[in-house]
Amino acid sequence: MRELVLTAPAQRLHGEILARLMRAGASSRTQLADAAGVDVSTIVRALPELVAAGWISETVDQMQARTRGRPIKRVAVRGGHHLAIGVKIGPERIVGAVTDLAGDVIAAGTSPLDTRDPDRVLAAVSEMVRVLAGRGLAVVDQPEARVVGLGVGVGGHVSKGRVVTSPILGWQGVEVSTVLAAATRLPTVVANDVNALAAGEHLLGYGRRVDDLAVLTIGRGLGCGLVLHGRLLVGADGAAGEFGHLPLIPDGPPCGCGGRGCLETVASDRALVAAVRARTGDADVCELGDVERLAAAGDQVALECLATTGELLGRGIAALVNLVNPALVIVAGEMVSVIDHLEAPMRRAAAEHAFSSAWSNCRLKIDRGGDEMWARGAAWLAIRAAVMRPETFARVSPEVAV
Ligand SMILES: [Zn+2]
Repeated sequence: MRELVLTAPAQRLHGEILARLMRAGASSRTQLADAAGVDVSTIVRALPELVAAGWISETVDQMQARTRGRPIKRVAVRGGHHLAIGVKIGPERIVGAVTDLAGDVIAAGTSPLDTRDPDRVLAAVSEMVRVLAGRGLAVVDQPEARVVGLGVGVGGHVSKGRVVTSPILGWQGVEVSTVLAAATRLPTVVANDVNALAAGEHLLGYGRRVDDLAVLTIGRGLGCGLVLHGRLLVGADGAAGEFGHLPLIPDGPPCGCGGRGCLETVASDRALVAAVRARTGDADVCELGDVERLAAAGDQVALECLATTGELLGRGIAALVNLVNPALVIVAGEMVSVIDHLEAPMRRAAAEHAFSSAWSNCRLKIDRGGDEMWARGAAWLAIRAAVMRPETFARVSPEVAV
């Protein structure tokens, strides 16, 4: 039920093998050994369990066999055999995707939410999972295909399957994994939504070839997911990466977290909209799209407010790169719609305030892909949790499971 906990080395190795296959596609045993930091014999011992349980297949590379005389075995995930479902719960909608073990989306869906009541939201998630599971299994159309788990991303502090606090949803102490596992009958993993996105970017997105990266989400809230040394960093109790709650402004505006002057109170989409509305005196400026339209029409106040927001975000990025020195920062979220106005001041401020070469050696990428990667990342967390559960391999015979 829980993820992000220490597991037995053999199960962790299974997870690392699958992660490598997802990031790089079919691989040799040597490549798997290099990626996991173990010797080839350890990989050779770990593979039969995964093969017998139907997660991966091994094939001989015929081309290699012909040209060099010695056959090379290639390992690949078995597409369509095992599926996982990822769901992101947002304040206005839930977004879901069912993926195969390669992380490819088999089916996807979105449901608007007219409530934030936890019971009703989780009932809507359960219904979406039921529909997606049916659609995914129908698409792959294989008798042995099954859904191995459900991954759910929620904004806020998530620990041990429970939402401790989610200012964006107004949730406090909401049990999510036990409720959804009972309703869907699927092993369920719950994570902070930006951590799920960071896992997705690392495996399937811009972070595919990078092992030290930060994902910043800019929108209603400001979030951060960190992958360091190839591992998702969640902290001692799941609260790492709360970029939006850097307490930067003394006696600043009140924040949804209960504090004052958090970065989120001056650089989120709400803060931007409020600043433009206050300075223009235009009561019709209610949402980000209104600011976008004003900026596109060359409104000077809107452009200045966007520049200020970009600078504040850049200062936050400088704080982040000074702390963890990532090789890549990926920016995603709703405010990507105005990134053309934010990016230059953001880069300038990051460069000005970063320590030594922390920024000059760091790449910045903008993910304009919308919500799908969040759900794919959540699905991967479910796959990883499934492959780390000993009962996943319970039906593997002892002769095979060396
Ligand atoms: Zn705060």
